This record gives sequence, C-alpha cells and structure tokens, in this order.
Amino acid sequence: PVVKGTKRKSKRPQIIAKKPSASADIPDDVPYLLIGGGAATFSAFRAIKLADPQAKVLVITNEPYTPYMRPPLSKEMFSSTDRQMVQNMEFKQTDGSPRSIFFEDETYYLPCTRLKEEENGGVALAQGWTVKKLEVTKKTAILEDGKEIKYGKCLLAVGSKPKNIAAFEDLTPDVDERVTFYRGIFDFEELDEIVTNGAKSIVIVGGGFLGSELACSLAKRGRGAGLSVTQIFPEKNNMSKVLPEYLGRWTMKMIRNEGVQVLPDSKVDQVYMVKDQIQVLLCDGKVIPADQVVVAVGAEPNTELAKISNLEVDESLGGFVANAELEARTDLYVAGDCVCFYDETYGRRRIEHHDNAIVSGRLAGENMVKEVGNPYKEQAIFWSDLGPNISFEAIGLVDPSLPTVGIYAKTEEEDVEEVMGDDEEKDDPNEKYTKGVVFYLKDDIVVGIVLWNVLNKLNIAKHILKQSKKYDDLNELAKLFSLH
Ligand code: NAD
Repeated sequence: PVVKGTKRKSKRPQIIAKKPSASADIPDDVPYLLIGGGAATFSAFRAIKLADPQAKVLVITNEPYTPYMRPPLSKEMFSSTDRQMVQNMEFKQTDGSPRSIFFEDETYYLPCTRLKEEENGGVALAQGWTVKKLEVTKKTAILEDGKEIKYGKCLLAVGSKPKNIAAFEDLTPDVDERVTFYRGIFDFEELDEIVTNGAKSIVIVGGGFLGSELACSLAKRGRGAGLSVTQIFPEKNNMSKVLPEYLGRWTMKMIRNEGVQVLPDSKVDQVYMVKDQIQVLLCDGKVIPADQVVVAVGAEPNTELAKISNLEVDESLGGFVANAELEARTDLYVAGDCVCFYDETYGRRRIEHHDNAIVSGRLAGENMVKEVGNPYKEQAIFWSDLGPNISFEAIGLVDPSLPTVGIYAKTEEEDVEEVMGDDEEKDDPNEKYTKGVVFYLKDDIVVGIVLWNVLNKLNIAKHILKQSKKYDDLNELAKLFSLH
C-alpha cells in the first residue's frame, strides 16, 4: 500500500506550477528527454550540458517545483529562526551562508516553446505533466493526454514515494488531515506551519533516517515552546537498518537526551480522533494523543510505468532493472531511487539516498552523451545528523547484519577502543561513542565504512573500499582517520 501524491496545496504562489497550458507547447522530438524532476535529473542535465554544451534537454516532471534537494527538509530547514529564509526555502550551510534548496534559479530553465529554436540549447521544464507510457522500440514517451514525444536518449528518474502501513490506510478525512506522509516541500510547509502555530505534541512513526532526523529537528525546534515529540518504531533501536546494535542503542540514548520520547518495540494499531486530537493507539494498548502524526516508514520506487512499457522490475530489491552503465533498454537510462543497477564490485543494488541520485544521475547523463558508457564505479555516500552529538557519513555496504568492528576514540589521552559486532558486554551506560570508525566486513574484506563524528575523511574511506582487501589489524587502519 502506497500513498498517492500529496493532498495539500502550496501557500507560496511564486513556485506553484507553470504547467504548459497545452501539451502542444511541449516539443514532440528531443535529443534528450529526462523524466522526473528530482536530484538525479538535475545531476544528469548538468552532466549532459558539461559534455555537450549545446544539448537540448527536455525535463518532464509532475512536481510543481523546479528540481530541489530533499536532505535539508528533515535537517537544517527546521533550525532556521529566520522566517524569510523559510519562506524562500533557504537553509543555513555549515559555514553560516544561506543556500536555496532549489538547485537552479527558475530563470535557468527555458520555456518549452523555446527549446527547439534556441541555438545554444538549454534545459526546458514541462512541469505538472506525467509520462504514462514508454514505447521503447519507437523511442517515444506518451503523456497523460496522449501526446507523443520522440527522444534520442531518455532518462527515467522518477524517484520513490512514501510507504504506508495498515494502521494508516483508509483514514476518514478528519484523521487524514492530521497525518503527514513526509516526503517533499508540501510536507515540510505543513509541519512547519503546525509547529509555528503552537502544536503541543507530534508523534513520529518510523525509526529510520527520516523518522530519527525529524524527531531530533522537531525536538530542537519545539524546545521551550512546550512541544512534545514522541517517536514510535517496531525495532529495538533507532537506525537499526544501518548501525550495529550497540551503536543504535547509544544513538537512541542521545536522541532521548534531545528530548524525544522514543518508544522502541512499538507498533501502531489504530488512529482515531477524540475532540480535536488524533489518538495513536499502540498494539500494547497505550494511547498517545497528538496534534499531528508523521509517518516515515520507508519509501517505495515509482515503477508504475514498468508494466505498460514492458520494463523489468527487480522482484526483491524493487526498481527498474538496469545494467552497470545504468541502461535499461536501448537509449533508455535509469537513475536515482528507482534504479536497480549492477554494481561491478557489490552486485545488484538499489540505493535510496541523495548522493546516489547525484552519482547515478551524473553517470547516466555522461553515458547518454557517449558512444560507449562507463560502469557504476564511484560509490555514493550518505550522511545523517541526529542532534548536536551525532553526525555520521557512510559509504559502501553499510549493513548491520554483516560483522562489524568499531574503533572509537576513548579519552583525550589518545586511547582507542575496539568494539566487535554487537558487543552487549560493552554496553556500559557511561560509554561514550563520541568519535570513531565502523568497518563492515564481508569475507574479512572491508565493504562498508561509517565515519562517526569524523569529518572530511571520506576520501580515505573511498580508498579503503577500492582496495577491496583483507587487513590484519583494523586498529592500524583506523589510524588513517586520526581519531585522536
Ligand atoms: P527508512 O527505510 O530509513 O526507515 C523506515 C523505517 O520504517 C524503519 O526503520 C522502521 O522503523 C519503520 N517501520 C517499518 N515498518 C513499520 C511499522 N509497521 N510501524 C512503525 N514503523 C515501521 O525510511 P524513512 O526513514 O521513511 O526514509 C524514507 C526514504 O528517504 C528512505 O529511502 C531513506 O533512505 C531516505 N532518507 C535518507 C536520509 C539520509 O540519507 N540522511 C534522510 C531522510 C530520508
């Protein structure tokens, strides 16, 4: 079960859809057609324009926005006290300077009607339109009104959508109003408005990236304003899809220290209204009243186009099946959350993170311009910020079911501590995993690395993964990260 689209309208007219009024305004034959308007598409058109500055690129997106980045929507955007910045969809970068979440200013994009005649090419956006079918043997995309667009090369970068769970299906309209399936700008605006208007309690369902980041961001934002934030999830600890258990336990402790009431081992049974509040009934009988509930229980690739277009979807990982060059069919490429590609190093994969959208979008864009494409080689990273004490970056196969070895800076006296796998004995309440590196191993080879509060060392991690070899002493290896 999946949530379809968003139910609310943006209150900021300056970025509301400029849908070409008629599909006749959209070119019917383009060298480069990009479907989807997210980070992967942005990265692809940047790569195409770099390799072929005169390229004519048409982007078809059913979003009412120009391509934007999502990571700040669960992190920095909630920290801003400057309402004008929030209104402009700007956030403060680590150096304090403002940055828009939109990759390019609106003026960067050509109107669809000008793309054909523009000698120097450019990127035109057909916003608010949906591709309903691809006829891959005719290299044609068909829009919702039947309009056909022929392409030279096409990219499918249609992303993913929030998953749903049984307790949140078939909601009555009054309950539905109080539930946010968090994903994009509309959802940020909605939650921001609710908090600004003095909400007293928010319940977040989900213990992964989105749930944990939002819990920390909202707790910080609502501190002093009497906002209570409760996080509910079925696992034992926060971030249990990526962190070894002891580190997840520590992370949960840190998130609680931020003021979040974290309820692990908990499932939602039902939601219903009593007076003006939504009530979250858990399977153990506990009821939590809230002003708003945020559901963040994972994402699901948008593969609606697959069946009608005869495209293969990976049965276990989801997403359109593509080769190592990200090509699914002749001259049809796939990138971002919705591609299930062949990684020459780690086999078939699908990755739902911002940097993978950038890396795979760039590779697809480069390959679309070339005679012979390159395979996926550069490992994408991901990162998360969870309150003031946790900021981590990760690369490779970061899967906690693999054996892990964590090496942590212990005290200021240049001492390190090694933690193997899930070492319950090491779960001393006074333990401080303030800074360290976690190696994830497959057949004793380092296949994944988490840099725990270690900044600017990703190149070293990338180099270690590239070596793909066994190390006798991981303590020695950890010294490369200067933990002391
Ligand atoms: P996720 O896959 O990270 O986490 C899903 C979570 O859903 C699980 O951890 C679990 O706690 C929860 N869950 C599953 N079934 C549940 C149930 N029945 N009841 C309650 N909880 C249940 O997905 P997400 O956190 O929703 O994020 C959505 C997408 O956005 C993911 O692809 C994620 O990788 C991406 N994202 C990435 C970042 C980042 O890289 N920093 C940040 C935010 C979102």
